[in-house]
Amino acid sequence: MFREMRRANQLLPMELTEDVLRRATAGVLALEGENSYPYAVPLSYVYGNGKIYFHSATSGYKFDLIQANGMVSFCVIEQDQIVPEELTTYFRSVIVFGKAKVIRDEQEKRRALELLSEKYSPGYEEKSRLSIERNWDNVCIVGIEIDHVTGKEARELAKLRKSSSSSSKQ
Ligand SMILES: Cc1cc2nc3c(=O)[nH]c(=O)nc-3n(C[C@H](O)[C@H](O)[C@H](O)COP(=O)(O)OP(=O)(O)OC[C@H]3O[C@@H](n4cnc5c(N)ncnc54)[C@H](O)[C@@H]3O)c2cc1C
Repeated sequence: MFREMRRANQLLPMELTEDVLRRATAGVLALEGENSYPYAVPLSYVYGNGKIYFHSATSGYKFDLIQANGMVSFCVIEQDQIVPEELTTYFRSVIVFGKAKVIRDEQEKRRALELLSEKYSPGYEEKSRLSIERNWDNVCIVGIEIDHVTGKEARELAKLRKSSSSSSKQ
C-alpha cells in the first residue's frame, strides 16, 4: 500500500526515525484541500504515545479539512545543511502517513498538552498548567495515528553515522 524508498541505503532505522520525530521542532501537515489543491500547513507538534499530536483552533481551513478527511501526510525536516562545494545538502527528514483525529478523550488531550509544554516550554510547568486550564475549552488536540513512517538521510550523513558507530564499537 505504501511505496518503497527507491534509495533504500538512505532509509533511516526506525529508532533513529523516532529520534528525528522527537527532536525536530516543526513539521508540515498535508491535507486534501478544496478545488483540487492540497493544503500543506506548518505546525509545532510532539511525538508521544506512538502518535503525532498538535494543537489547533476549533475553526479554520485546517480544522475543516481534518474533519472532512483525516487521511494525512506529515513531513519533518530535521537537518538541511547546504554543502555548496559538493552541490548537495546533508539532509535528514521523516515522512508520516496516518489518520488525523480530534482527541475527545480528556485524559489523552491533557497528556498531549503536557507533552507539548514539556517539549516547547521546559522549566515553565506552572505557567503551562495555568494556560492549559485557561484555554481548555477553546483548544483542541489532534492526534495522528501513524500508518506508515520512514526516515531518510543524505548518503554522506549515513556514511558518517555508520563510521562513527563502528569506531565507537572498537
Ligand atoms: C513553525 C510554525 C509552527 C506552528 N504551530 C502551530 C500549531 O502548533 N498549531 C496551530 O494551530 N497552528 C500553528 N502554526 C500556524 C499554522 O501554520 C496555521 O497558520 C494555523 O494553524 C491556522 O491554520 P488554518 O488552516 O486554520 O488557517 P486559515 O486562516 O483558516 O487558513 C486560510 C488560508 O490562510 C493561509 N495561511 C494559513 N496559515 C498560513 C501560514 N502558516 N503561512 C502562510 N499562509 C497561511 C492559507 O492560504 C490558507 O489557505 C504554526 C506555524 C508555524 C510557521
